[in-house]
Amino acid sequence: MIAENMKPLVKNNSVIRQMFEEGDRLRAIYGADKVFDFSLGNPNVPAPAEVKEAFLDILENEDPIKVHGYMSNAGFPEVRHAIAESLNKRFKTDFGMHNILMTVGAGSALNVAFRILLNPGDEVLTFAPYFVEYGNYVSNYGGKLSVVPANTENFQPDLEAFKKMVSPKTKMVVINTPHNPTGVIYTEETIRKLTDILYDKQMEFGTEIFLLSDEPYRELVYDDVEVPYVTRYYANTLVAYSFSKTLSLPGERIGYLLIPDEAVDSSEMIAAAGIAIRVSGSVNAPSLIQLVVGRCLDLKADISYYKRNRDTLYGALKEYGFSCTEPQGAFYLWVKTPTEDDKAFVAAAKSHNILVVPGSSFACPGYVRLAYCVSYETIKGSLPGFKELAREYFGE
Ligand code: PLP
Repeated sequence: MIAENMKPLVKNNSVIRQMFEEGDRLRAIYGADKVFDFSLGNPNVPAPAEVKEAFLDILENEDPIKVHGYMSNAGFPEVRHAIAESLNKRFKTDFGMHNILMTVGAGSALNVAFRILLNPGDEVLTFAPYFVEYGNYVSNYGGKLSVVPANTENFQPDLEAFKKMVSPKTKMVVINTPHNPTGVIYTEETIRKLTDILYDKQMEFGTEIFLLSDEPYRELVYDDVEVPYVTRYYANTLVAYSFSKTLSLPGERIGYLLIPDEAVDSSEMIAAAGIAIRVSGSVNAPSLIQLVVGRCLDLKADISYYKRNRDTLYGALKEYGFSCTEPQGAFYLWVKTPTEDDKAFVAAAKSHNILVVPGSSFACPGYVRLAYCVSYETIKGSLPGFKELAREYFGE
């Protein structure tokens, strides 16, 4: 009975569900502390204490009719104003509240961006490896996702291949930095070269090409590496942001879409985005959490926790002989599998009660992703299993 275009999604979902069920099955047999589950990007550092204080204070002291009521589809004006001011201070931008539309996480911000820009058949380009939901989101609006093959040297985008793939049908390009699943941050040089290509291609084809920067990990950065603010390099840039990871609030579903004045037809896009939020059925982003994040804009979860996990896991795996990309941001470690068949490696890891996600799930076989937003005990407990795996593949 279900629609034809849902069938592949249902089929694929059962693969993901199987992975979760496998974790539960192993935990039931061996005990939760003997299973080392690196499969999910669910933050395990608690939200900063100020988040709870803001919840309580708003509930105690603000007008409940306002706190729980409908509002403009784009969100509370004062929250959007505070976000614009915070961005302006940090990135020397010049946004106003009208440029910010509150959404149900980055997932919704991405959907709104695709909804307002894509006509059926329009092409969206992204770079392997990539967050697999992009394909589903693009197909929600009849678009076609094309994927630039990975640059396995350093996982910065392969701009030569990209240049050849941009076509008159290319309406949007999606980038994600800091990056899931590699932890790489795109350098300023990368952003400059990529946006130069886009300016050249717009000129060559007489089209407008929109760059959509997906940034749920913007604040999760190690060693003070800089994450360039992309609107400063390219006028037709939209930003999808989320508080899910920065403030450890993924279940609260709060983020925003930023549409700068410099983007072509920005007023029309902003008006359309408000309507897209409405007709998506979400109507507006959840009200209480909007007010909370509006008070917590300069905070982030304790990154030193993820850093310790990163340093221990990356250090140990390198020592055992695995080839890994050193994460500069986010909370993922991207490991080259010692066999071409990443799924075989995932199965081998499972035999040591280690759960990881195959690179083929990110359109990049031959690698696995480890989400190290787990307890330090999980990191430490997994190391003998990784050592054993190394022995199996590399010998003594
Ligand atoms: N984009 C990327 C690259 C992600 O990794 C995620 C979540 O893991 C999202 C978007 C969606 O984030 P949200 O929870 O804000 O919808």
